[in-house]
Amino acid sequence: MSTDRKGWHDDVTTNSSGPGAALAGHRALLLDTIRGAGEMSRASLARTTGLNAATVTVAVRDLIADGLIVEIGRAASTGGKPAVLLALAAESRYALGVHLDHTSITYVIADLSGKVVAVWPRRGGADARAPQLVVERIAAELTTFVQRIGIPTERLLGIGLVSPGPATSATGIALSSPEMRPWIDFPLVDALAAATGLPVVLGNDATAAAVGEFWSGHVDPTAMFAALYMGTGIGAGIIMAGNPILGSSGNAGEIGHICVARDGALCWCGSRGCLETVAGAAAIVHAARAAGRAPAGEFLHDQFADVAREALAGQPTAVALFEDAADYVAVAVQSLTNILDLDHVVLTGPAFAIAGALFVPAIQRQLAHAFFARGTHGVEVTVSSNASYAAATGAAAMVLQSELAPRPTMSGRPAATSGASPSAIAGTGPSTSGAPLVAAFD
Ligand SMILES: [Zn+2]
Repeated sequence: MSTDRKGWHDDVTTNSSGPGAALAGHRALLLDTIRGAGEMSRASLARTTGLNAATVTVAVRDLIADGLIVEIGRAASTGGKPAVLLALAAESRYALGVHLDHTSITYVIADLSGKVVAVWPRRGGADARAPQLVVERIAAELTTFVQRIGIPTERLLGIGLVSPGPATSATGIALSSPEMRPWIDFPLVDALAAATGLPVVLGNDATAAAVGEFWSGHVDPTAMFAALYMGTGIGAGIIMAGNPILGSSGNAGEIGHICVARDGALCWCGSRGCLETVAGAAAIVHAARAAGRAPAGEFLHDQFADVAREALAGQPTAVALFEDAADYVAVAVQSLTNILDLDHVVLTGPAFAIAGALFVPAIQRQLAHAFFARGTHGVEVTVSSNASYAAATGAAAMVLQSELAPRPTMSGRPAATSGASPSAIAGTGPSTSGAPLVAAFD
């Protein structure tokens, strides 16, 4: 697998048709480049991508005809005729992201640039309900959401659906955590595609969150980076110079099941001493109770948030619990970073949205004195600016990537997608500007 950015797109195709179809790989590279830069002239595109000027001219003409990019004016003159600048037509396409969790479903609409147009978090998730009923609920709520935000349906590219791993099936979802066992082998992708008429891409929450960080331009596009995702469990999405690493079965990055205590407690996965057994949200809440605290809230996430708030306020017992958990996470991140020689680790997901600041110092300390290649380069550790809705946002980004800029994933099996065709796409239509950034209607 080459990680040469100029090479990725050569052997992949998009779903675009028309005279530019033969240039599909170039189109994806050009879209990626314009997206990353914000605005660019044709000459700069040719210089940056290494494509020749004639190829850029033809591909750009097709991208403009498809409504994916627009000319936005001219650059400042540097002596000759000022160059015409190109930018993404951000409102020309939208993707839907759905994060199906045990106790909630979060919906996101993102535009072509990956910017979140609207978020709709809903209580009640996949727990103990007939999967087909949940699929019908998702289809109905997506219809409501799209109508309320005012997105023309012909601009929808598809649905990205994420949920906690592990995935064991290419077309279904096989979540063997206790809460999700009724879902084993349910054909979720096909059922949702049938219920909505839109293509569906399935992924796990951590990988989706990493794709979302990449697509929205929050990390250096050439970086080796991991999104460390903490919700109910802990996972890592890995992207190396733009290529998501999925592993043989889509389960790469299961850092929550790295052994950090050889004879430690039994984990739900069947192993002992997993990171989740000492630093997962449930472990922290359990430890807080054992230490005499009484975390408030009906759901685990609320109870975790309550302990985190106590720690952030300096309550000594809660501070000690988080210091202990953060030290475990730090050694696991050291292992991940040594194996992958990472440049950047982004903490994301609902638990890190609340408690990220309690983990960052321990991880930074550990990497500063124990990362193997520390004499060669540092590793940046940050908290995502979009940590709360990272999985749903990433799910939408997975659709943008798979439909518009497909690239090989480092996986032994094809990514799970529905057989549905992409919806018809119109390049023109009424403007949707003015849509709220975040909607929380109920
Ligand atoms: Zn485990």
